[in-house]
Amino acid sequence: METGTAERGPAQQRARQEAARLGAEGVRGTALTWVDNAGITRVKTVPVARLAHTARWGVGMSPVFDVYAVDDSVTTSRHIGGPDGDLRLFPDLDRLTVLAGQPGWAWAPVDRYTQQGAPHPGCQRLFARRQAGRALALGLEARMGFETEWTAVRAGVPGAEPGAAGEVRYASTGPAYGMVRMVELSDYLGDVLGALLDQHVEVLQLHPEYSPGQFEVSVAPSDPVGAADLAVLVRETVRAVSVRHGLTASFAPVVEAGRVGNGGHLHLSLWREGRNLCGGGEGPFGMTAECESFLAGVLRELPALLAVGAPSPASHLRLEPSRWAGVFQCWGLENREAAIRFITGAPDDPGGANAEVKCFDASANPYLVTGCVIAAGLAGTEARLTLPPPVTGDPARVGGRPRLPVSAAEALEHFEGSAVLREAMGDPLFEAFAAVRRAEVELFGETAPGDLAAAVRNRY
Ligand code: GLU
Ligand code: MG
Repeated sequence: METGTAERGPAQQRARQEAARLGAEGVRGTALTWVDNAGITRVKTVPVARLAHTARWGVGMSPVFDVYAVDDSVTTSRHIGGPDGDLRLFPDLDRLTVLAGQPGWAWAPVDRYTQQGAPHPGCQRLFARRQAGRALALGLEARMGFETEWTAVRAGVPGAEPGAAGEVRYASTGPAYGMVRMVELSDYLGDVLGALLDQHVEVLQLHPEYSPGQFEVSVAPSDPVGAADLAVLVRETVRAVSVRHGLTASFAPVVEAGRVGNGGHLHLSLWREGRNLCGGGEGPFGMTAECESFLAGVLRELPALLAVGAPSPASHLRLEPSRWAGVFQCWGLENREAAIRFITGAPDDPGGANAEVKCFDASANPYLVTGCVIAAGLAGTEARLTLPPPVTGDPARVGGRPRLPVSAAEALEHFEGSAVLREAMGDPLFEAFAAVRRAEVELFGETAPGDLAAAVRNRY
């Protein structure tokens, strides 16, 4: 709910009770996070004794972070930027979680408001909520879930320091998807899983991925804002457990140029009155006409969405054909090389039909991803778009399908030309986001792949 400070009495009341519970569990402070337009999770913390006050009045933070780039340099935009002003951050108490990987700490995501109590037009989380609300107003419920891939690197050795271009020491070099890695890193992975379960995260799978030291965890779908919150919680939990095991978890699109990178795939399904519209219909592979139009809208907007879902200049080191990163603007049934992979539902989950957007990675702000994907999908349903024929096989070999933008500069051009995204985001958020993309293109446009990978390796 988007409420002003005047209606926050009940939240304060509730926060008092939560604070008592947290205190009894040995929690001393709560980390209040939001994700900026560079994809960096920023934080303020408050002691538990201050939580109720914070729920009532918020905690201050400058709007200038809306124009921070990945290297902490600051750009500006027409509506947002500069040293003036302040915002109030309000924790979402429904998500308050005691952090298993960071003893003594709890966490909650925040919504950002102006000092006067109005929603901050640059707030990415409120944007995601607004888009989910637009769908709900049409009777459509989007269910979403992010996959989290990361690469575990040994800390305290060359390659682990931010920006280091030296040799990267992977936590495990065992075979892709290999049991060797599970055995070698058994305690570490057990602690990752344990921490997530202790936090009541509904984990679906945890497994080694393709590249050395690379792993993935997937979680059950939830509402769009909840899915973005979970993406943050899962990532920071993995990071915290890694630190306690002498490892650094990298969520960057690539750790080294030339290798299979870390994706941040988004699964989504569309529901009406409790019915999954991705199945049980007359359309391709059983999808309903409404689901088809929604996916066609996402597919049409993908060149612009790429600036949101794979925003880092380093994202394009990952976005190579034939690496399961989905770099062609097409869709297919269970096709891991199509940007949109349609899944009809597994034998243990026949009602679980959904689509996976594969081209995204974890340099993205997950709130902007969920909000923008809904906006693109709704534009598709409104225009009753239909999908082109699906693609079978690797589009790199089959041919005939357009490549998605091959650079951050090209993706930014598509983003800036997207009326759908501008209208949904509103000028202040749209332009601040574009300014950050532009700043990062200027920062890294000429940087050699190896240096670019090293520069962002430990930023996300
Ligand atoms: N790591 C691959 C990527 O960059 C994805 C592998 C998979 O399909 O899970 O997106
Ligand atoms: Mg994967």
